Amino acid sequence: METWEQNIHELTGVYVLDALADSERDSFETHLRVCPSCVAEVAELRRAVIGLAGEASFVPPAMLWQRISENIGCRTAEIT
Ligand SMILES: [Zn+2]
Repeated sequence: METWEQNIHELTGVYVLDALADSERDSFETHLRVCPSCVAEVAELRRAVIGLAGEASFVPPAMLWQRISENIGCRTAEIT
């Protein structure tokens, strides 16, 4: 049987994106005080998220849009 405590290590991503319920966030922040590996993961994910946010303020490279539109194109082609 899975418990909250067993799954809490997997919540780093959700926590960084601020998508946890208040009670879950409180529990996770309590967990962070005793779990260095989650602290490290949160720090790493935060850097990644900040990096993405920083890039979003710039015009994305044409290559990126091309890749996105190709992906969308593939998906649309599969549907139709
Ligand atoms: Zn943990």
